[in-house]
Amino acid sequence: MEAPAPRSPGHPPWVTAADAIPVALLRTDASGRIRAANAAAVALLAWDADHLRGQALTDILPGDPPGPEAEARFAARADGTPCAVEARALRQDDGGRIVSLLPDDARRALERTLARVGAEYQTIFDAVPTLIWFKDRHNRYLRLNPAAAAAFGRPADQIEGHTAHDFLPEDLARRDHQEDLDVLRSGRPKRGLLLTLPSASGQPLTLQVTKLPSHGADGAVSGVIGLATDISERQRVTETVRRVAYYDPLTGLANRLLFSDRLERSLAAARRQGSQLAILVVGIDRFQLFNDGLGHSAGDEILRILAQRLSGSVRDQDSVCRLTGDEFALVAQGIEQFRDVMRLAQRLRHSLSQPLTVADRELFPSVTIGSSLFPADGSDVDVLVRNAESALHRAKEQRIDHAFYNPAITHRATAHLEVERGLRRVLERGELVLHYQPIFRLDPPGITGVEALIRWQHPERGLLPPSAFIELAESTGMIVPIGAWVIRTACAQIVAWEHAGLGRLGVSVNLSARQLQDRRLVEEVTQILSDTGIAPDRLTLELTEGTVMGTRGRPDQTLRSLKAMGVRLAIDDFGTGYSSLSYLQQFTVDALKIDRSFLAPVRSPGDPCPVARAVIALAHSLNLSVVAEGVENDAQVDCLRRDGCDQLQGYLLCRPLPAGELADRLADQQLPTRRLSR
Ligand code: C2E
Ligand code: MG
Ligand code: MG
Repeated sequence: MEAPAPRSPGHPPWVTAADAIPVALLRTDASGRIRAANAAAVALLAWDADHLRGQALTDILPGDPPGPEAEARFAARADGTPCAVEARALRQDDGGRIVSLLPDDARRALERTLARVGAEYQTIFDAVPTLIWFKDRHNRYLRLNPAAAAAFGRPADQIEGHTAHDFLPEDLARRDHQEDLDVLRSGRPKRGLLLTLPSASGQPLTLQVTKLPSHGADGAVSGVIGLATDISERQRVTETVRRVAYYDPLTGLANRLLFSDRLERSLAAARRQGSQLAILVVGIDRFQLFNDGLGHSAGDEILRILAQRLSGSVRDQDSVCRLTGDEFALVAQGIEQFRDVMRLAQRLRHSLSQPLTVADRELFPSVTIGSSLFPADGSDVDVLVRNAESALHRAKEQRIDHAFYNPAITHRATAHLEVERGLRRVLERGELVLHYQPIFRLDPPGITGVEALIRWQHPERGLLPPSAFIELAESTGMIVPIGAWVIRTACAQIVAWEHAGLGRLGVSVNLSARQLQDRRLVEEVTQILSDTGIAPDRLTLELTEGTVMGTRGRPDQTLRSLKAMGVRLAIDDFGTGYSSLSYLQQFTVDALKIDRSFLAPVRSPGDPCPVARAVIALAHSLNLSVVAEGVENDAQVDCLRRDGCDQLQGYLLCRPLPAGELADRLADQQLPTRRLSR
């Protein structure tokens, strides 16, 4: 108390400091005489300061001097009136005392104030909608208000003394604990935390939480105060506003605005990845008729059902929107070719055209689709959507199910669809035919066999080459029965020619990868050989490098079994794919067919053909025979002969011909074997 204070004339420093304290303070010496009094003492006792100094304490506070505990006493004012005080004294080193006198009314006022503040605090604590809780250092709830108890779904006394682990789902409790630890360790508040609580009503409760450190008497962090506001309602309102702004109220689908936003983002991603996107606009056919005939609420119901089917048919619900009254739009990502879009459109049309019952009537809805592709048909949202819509309108005009913005693609897609439909019935309708192209031996010149090449006699589109349908037959699995038909027909054909006295020819048949994976291939080939009675080595199966190299497991086994039966194997289009030499040896392939692209550069006598030469040398060193495909001129024949090629095949010698025509030429010995002699 004798702390340094500015010395002011007439007052000891103690008094100056003590004057600032609102409690009456008296300082006595060892003999009990008052040596100093602060301003509050002068005011309380109504003595003037100079008079007070030098008085005996007992004159002011009759009786023994008080001790350190508060005692209720009477102090004497200057005018002799008593004044109730709470007195206490601390002994000083010099034997004197510092005596404090707190007037009773002040004490009571303080107590009253405390009681009032306490009551007000309690009222607020009990009534505020804000959740309030106090926790100790160990994550235990010390106290919480009714709002918090209600939110936690149990009475306060079942929470106090417990941790969140005792009543919140484990993941929430763990997170809550971690947040508390952060506050305890850092001593700093954490704000804006979100806590979503399950609730009995089923509507989850979302709280926005602030956590503050609480401090003990020693000033150290002793626990955590939690304050939380229930923002569920605000969130629901925000969500409603969002729904109104971004979703179609009737169908619940995204509206045009949200769709554009999503599409914008998808476009950005596609640009980054260099990938394609498709926008499909789906129009409900004759919707106006439904609406007029059955009433608007039936029309609404139809829209709702179709919207549901549509979003059920796509992966990302938000990529579908209601574009206009009777048009929906969707964006499809990861499109590699227009066929992917066709398939998606087919799938959508299938699911949307299932019958539905509305207003007690069974209806058969149908839809028409228009699509545009990014980047081919435009690079921004508006253009792409507009182009897909214009494709839709064109499709409706032309009365087709689906049109692309680009008419050339629509044309190809339509043709493709027709092919796909027709291909399923091609065998039963007997529309497949084989053409045969002879394969010639150089030395001595002569014909050794034929390659069977498939064609489709399409009822409307005429004779289709394999390039128009083989890939599709492979992707639909139709190649398996078709391929079996080819082997059987080709084998039967060479037997028929043999019986007709046209020679004992071999036959080469092309095999696709899909056929190799088929478990029944070996069995089927065995059956065909036995039914036709031809020796296995008269049948050569041609495989491309991709087919052979891409095989593991069953195909590998299949090739071995075929080989073991004595069937010959040839690698077709050799040089265009990728081969492993050890694989060639392992399978004891019998022949390589040099792809015709390697012969194409040879046009005039003397032109070299280095690749053919290398392949021939390689094949011979592996004991394989070599067939050159696509021989179109005499210079190529010369060059191949020079390099020691074994067999030739090509338009120069004979184009692939229908069986009958080839038979005629064989019979008349019209085939140009002379060209092969030197
Ligand atoms: P490939 O097995 O390499 O058949 C040779 C192709 O080259 C045939 O075409 C043939 O007509 C053509 N060609 C023959 N000589 C010449 C020539 O001198 N110049 C030119 N430019 N071309 C010539 P095609 O008949 O259109 O067959 C194409 C491909 O279709 C075949 O190539 C084969 O991979 C596949 N293919 C044909 N028939 C079948 C089959 O029954 N099954 C399977 N899986 N694929 C088949
Ligand atoms: Mg071939
Ligand atoms: Mg070939």
